This record gives sequence, structure tokens and C-alpha cells, in this order.
Amino acid sequence: MHEFIHMLNQSPPPLPDLAETRRFTPRLMRWGFGAIMAVVVFITALSFWRVEVGNRVIDQIVSHEQVAVELLYRMQLASRDRMFALVAAAHTDDPFEQDSAIQRFYAQGAAFSVARAKLEQLSLTQTERTLLAQQREQIALILPLQERVIEHLASGRRADAEQLMIDRVIPAQNQVIHTLTALLDDAIVRTHEHAATGRKAQNRATALFVVGGLVGVLLTWGIFVQVTRKMGSLITRLADTNVQLHESNQDLAFQKLALDEHNIVSVTDAHGNITVVNDKFCEVSRYSSEELLGQNHRLLKSGQQPDTLFDDLWATISAGKVWHGEICNRRKDGSFYWVASTILPFVGEDGLPSRYVSVRTDITAIKEAQLVLERSRDELEQLVQTRTRELAEREEVLRSITRAAQDAVIMIDPAGLVTYWNPAAGHMFGFAETEAVGRNLHDLIVPEPDLERAHAGFSHFVASGEGPAIGRTTTLQAKHRNGDEFPVDVSLSAIKLHGQWNAVGILRDATERVKTEERLQQLATTDTLTGICNRRCFDETLEREVSRAARLSSPLSLILFDVDLFKRINDTFGHPTGDQVLAQLAGAVGGTIRAIDLFARWGGEEFAILLPGSDLNAGRLLAEKLRGMLEKQPFADVGQVTCSFGVTEYAPGDDMDGLIKKADRCLYQAKASGRNRVEAYATPAQPEADESARR
Ligand code: GH3
Ligand code: MG
Ligand code: MG
Repeated sequence: MHEFIHMLNQSPPPLPDLAETRRFTPRLMRWGFGAIMAVVVFITALSFWRVEVGNRVIDQIVSHEQVAVELLYRMQLASRDRMFALVAAAHTDDPFEQDSAIQRFYAQGAAFSVARAKLEQLSLTQTERTLLAQQREQIALILPLQERVIEHLASGRRADAEQLMIDRVIPAQNQVIHTLTALLDDAIVRTHEHAATGRKAQNRATALFVVGGLVGVLLTWGIFVQVTRKMGSLITRLADTNVQLHESNQDLAFQKLALDEHNIVSVTDAHGNITVVNDKFCEVSRYSSEELLGQNHRLLKSGQQPDTLFDDLWATISAGKVWHGEICNRRKDGSFYWVASTILPFVGEDGLPSRYVSVRTDITAIKEAQLVLERSRDELEQLVQTRTRELAEREEVLRSITRAAQDAVIMIDPAGLVTYWNPAAGHMFGFAETEAVGRNLHDLIVPEPDLERAHAGFSHFVASGEGPAIGRTTTLQAKHRNGDEFPVDVSLSAIKLHGQWNAVGILRDATERVKTEERLQQLATTDTLTGICNRRCFDETLEREVSRAARLSSPLSLILFDVDLFKRINDTFGHPTGDQVLAQLAGAVGGTIRAIDLFARWGGEEFAILLPGSDLNAGRLLAEKLRGMLEKQPFADVGQVTCSFGVTEYAPGDDMDGLIKKADRCLYQAKASGRNRVEAYATPAQPEADESARR
């Protein structure tokens, strides 16, 4: 039990420190994923911006470069067609055709001017503006020449017109087309440049996307690795703790099993309301666990003990201290039972007891034995008081010896002849004073078998004035005139008369006293229910017999037997019927064993038989015989009753306890092997815990 209490007080196996992991992991995940989101958002924004830049470049190309190219292209076409119109006008004789060609010439001139005006509105590079200015100058040179060609044609000078065309207009026109081609090339180059810039922006955006993705993946991977590592170590530590907890639970279960087997265990809350009870509790109190749980412990209060006991109990455990004591409880059926209790408070975090664990042992049998002993002691004390009173009275009698002696007062001389004999002596021994005086006292009142010893003792007294009976009261066997023997209390004194030792004796009939003492002795050594030897008587005899067996190396065997399932008999037929069974059983066994065997009630429904002079085999045979006899014997109301037997014999080195332990272990073995059996054991007792575990 102490181990159990110690265990309860022990701190539980340490749990791993999860606080750091618990703090770290969510923070890591929060910050980590936040960082990833920020990076991804930033990179996406950057990439959108880069794409926007690319788009703007592309828009420029579309809106500016292409328009510029288109316009230049249109100017080139217009310039060429104008030239063709002028050449066509110069080569035809048909005035209508010539007129139509000149009309085309002017229309193309207008288209050229419109295109150039639009081009000039665009934002142009310096090179383009220089080329455009150059082209304007060239046009300014060519226009008067073309006007002169048209004048020649209008005047019918076609040959002059053709000659002017070939010599000046066409080369000048080629100059213009060349300049326009240069402008167009420049615009195309710029378009390519802008396209390359757009592509670069797009590439950068793509690269940013890739880098951002990579950074995101790396960050995610890093967080994943960290979290996995932390979680891994956490799971390992949790698994280890789980194993430890499992082992602790197993230990606890074993301890609880052992505790439950022999102790009454309960747990109450701070107010004494029962929250846990074990089977033993229910068995002893006869309440079911359903009836007990939730009830206040006061339910079991017997009212047999003063309230101060319980005040002290509560004061102790409320202060967080362990309380030990004996309590008388009331069973469900109203009967009482005694328990030795240890109540252990469990202090909560607030420093106050939050629950109480009680471990108790049923000591009802011990208490009952104590009661019997106390009663015997009271009777003995009473006897002592009576004797003291009687002695005082006797003194009084002695003082008035000649007046009214109640006891026999006899005096003898050195020859042993009676010299004084009072009336009480006459009454006691049946001889009148006249018949007794002068006769040898020993011959008169000492029984035949003691005579020789009495004469020898008296001779010694006469020589020395001393003797074993001188100066004190002894009880001797005396003889009446009619031959009846009876005990007398003799107080002898030595008186020297004329230098010789005379003896004065005061004798009292001790018949009643001896009877009373014998009755008391019997009461003290007999079991009241069965009439056989009780435990005390058995222990005294056993001690004697063990030392005799050791001294003389004589065989000695011991049988312990216990009624099988006796609780069931009590529970089914009631305690009084149980008592009857015990009495009948004791009678049956007592009638079967030898007179020299000592048959005793060991306690409850267990009995012991000590067999002096019998070895193990003889003990086993007797046990087997008793087992068979009891098995067949019908018991009133109950029917069949069986017993389990443990037999052992004395081995050198055994003491009283060792011998009992061996027999008890055999008895336990017989119970464990199915009951109604005999188990024998011869080797010396080992100091083992199994016997105490059974108790
Ligand atoms: P097992 O044979 O396995 O030991 O079962 P059991 O029922 O006999 O169990 P156990 O020995 O522990 O219980 C003995 C019971 O005997 C318990 C107690 O109430 C009862 N008992 C003990 N002394 C007396 C008695 O003087 N009279 C009656 N009627 N019953 C007694
Ligand atoms: Mg029993
Ligand atoms: Mg028993």
C-alpha cells in the first residue's frame, strides 16, 4: 500500500516540451507563406508593368511607325504615279489622253501633299526631319521643271517636253524617290528597333516570372523542410511519450490489481462524495458500486464512534496531511465492520485538497478477537481483586485464629505430628481435633502418590528451617477422610520452638478457586463458537511443539484448512447458518483426529491441526481423509460443504512462522488449483511475498 501511495505521489512521466514547437510552427508557416505571397504579388506586379511597357512599345510601333511607313509609302507611290502621268502626257499625241494624264499628274501631287502633311504631324526623329526637309527642297526644284514640261506640252512642243523630262525631271524625280526610300528605310529600322525593345521588355517580364516562380518554390520548399523536420521530431517525441505513458499505465494497472485484490479502495471529491470504489469495497460493504457512486461517505457511518474522531480526520486531511486510523463502518445490511484506514489527500493547483484516496484493510476479525481478549482480561482482573480481598480477610482470620478461623490452621512438630488442629481443619479433612492431634499430618491429609515426596520435603525442612513451600502459599492436592481428593491453598511458616523447626500451615479448600481458574483458562483458550482450541491456545502449543521437534528431531506436521466459498454460504443462508456450519464442521473433524493432535480454529473459517509425531505423509493422509469425510457429510440447511487443505511438516531450521507460511502457501495452492483439494509441501520456508499477497 505504501508503494501505491508513493506511486500516486510520484510525478507523471515528463512530457516533451512542445511549447517551442507549438510557438514556432504556426509562426513559421504564417511568415513563410506571407513572404511567398508578397514575393509572388510583387513579381506579378513587376511582370504586369513590364508587359505594359512591352504593349506600349508595340502600340507605338502600330500607331506611329506603321502610320509613318504607310504615309511614306503613299508619298512614294504618289511621286512615282505623278512621274508616270507626266511621262504618259509627254508621250501621247492625243490631246484628251494628254489632258487626262495631266489631271492624274495634279491629283497625285495633291495625294502626295496630303500624305506629307500627315507625316509632318507625327513625332519624327531628327534624321527623318532632315530627310523630309531635303525632300521638300528637291520637290521645290522639280516643281518648276514639271510646270515647264506641261507648258511645252500645252504649246505642242512635245519634243522639248520629252527632252526636259529625260534631262532634268526624271533624274530630279529619282532624287525625290531616293530620299523617300531613305526615309522609308529609316522608319523600318526604327520599327525593328522598337520591336526589339518590346521583345526585350517581354523577355524581362518572362524572366521575372521565372525568377519569382523559382523564389516562391524555393521558399515553399524551405518552409516545408522546416515544418516537416519540426513535426517529425514532435511526432517522435510524442511516440516516445506514448510508449512511456503506456508502460506507466501498465504498471499502474498491475499495482491497482494487487491493491484491489486485498484492500478496500475508494476516491472521494473534496466534499466526501464517492467517485471511485473497487470491488473489494463493494464486497465488504455489500453495496453495489452504483449504490455507492455519488453518495457521501457518511452513508457508511456506523454511529459507533465519537464525532471528534471524524472532526480530527477532516481537520487532518483538509490540511493536506495523511490520516491513519481505525473506523467502524455500517454495511448495507446494517452489520458493522472495522477497517484500518489511510486517507491520502490530493492537493490541487489552488493548494487545497481536491480529492481523497482511501486505502483500507478489513480488520473486523482482529477487532472481534481483541474484544474477546479484553473480556478475558477483565475477568482475570476481577479475579485478582477478589483474591486480594480474600488475602486481606485471611490476615484478619489469622489475627483472630483462635476465635473464628475460617481456614484450617494446623501446626506440626519436627516429627511431623499434629500439635494444633482448629475446627475448620476438622471440617475440611473430616477428622475431629482429638482424632488428628498426635498423628502424622502427612499420613492424614496427603494423597498416596505424593506421600513420599512430602516426607522427603519435610525432612529437609526440619534440618534447615527452609523448604520450597515455606513463606508462601502453594496449592497442593489434599485428601479428605472419606478419600476424596481436593486442592488446598497452603501457606506454610517456619517457627523455631526449643531450637527445633516446627511448621504452621494455614490451609484453605481451593476447589472453587481452581474450578474458576480452570474455567477461565478454558475460556481464554477455547473458541466460543466451535468449542475447540482458539488461536491463542494454538499458537502457544505450536511454539512448544516446534521447539520440541527441533530438540528431539521428532516429526511434526501441520494441516491448515479453509472452508471453500464460505462467503457464499453466509450470503445465501445468513451468518447464523454459517456459524452452524462451522460448529458442525469442527465437531466432525474433532471426532476424527487423535487425542494428541491439536485441533484449533485458526480464524474466520480457517482451521489448523497440529500433528505431533506425524510426518508429512501421515499429515497428508489425514488431510485427505478429512477432505473426503467433509465432502460426504451433509450440513444442515446448506448441504455439501468442501474444504481446501494445505499440509506441511517441520524441517530443521523452521520456526513457528516458517511452518505456518509453508502450510498457508499449500492452502493457497489448493485454492488456486480448484478447491476441495489437499496440497502438501516439505521443503523449508522461503521468505517470499506470495504469502503476504494472499492475506
Ligand atoms: P475461498 O474458499 O475461496 O477462500 O472463499 P471464501 O468465501 O471462503 O472467502 P474468504 O475465505 O475470504 O471469506 C471467508 C468468509 O467467512 C468471510 C467472513 O465473512 C466469513 N466468516 C469469517 N468468520 C466467520 C464466522 O465466525 N461466522 C460466519 N458465519 N462467517 C464467518
Ligand atoms: Mg474460505
Ligand atoms: Mg478464508
